[in-house]
Amino acid sequence: MGTPRIPCKRCMIAGLREEEVLLRLSDYIDAIEPDKRAPQERYQARLAVCETCEQLSGGMCRECGCFVLYRAAIAGNDCPGIPDRWSEAGA
Ligand code: SF4
Repeated sequence: MGTPRIPCKRCMIAGLREEEVLLRLSDYIDAIEPDKRAPQERYQARLAVCETCEQLSGGMCRECGCFVLYRAAIAGNDCPGIPDRWSEAGA
């Protein structure tokens, strides 16, 4: 079973309230295979960087359009910014 593909944000949030979006995101994050998931400490460090980033808007990264809660949860992902802010912060 592969890592589930997250739908585009327009499809995912159409007609949903904020709490429903978060629940759906949580389902996608829970479905990430353990060996592909970022360790919790790394996940939190990545999100801490995103929280201070000017590209974060409404939980989404303006560089890539991803929900950062999901993007940061996959170990092999990187920050799409130039420079890569996660790597710069050691996250
Ligand atoms: S550019 Fe990088 S640090 Fe900024 S919100 Fe996007 S993923 Fe997070």
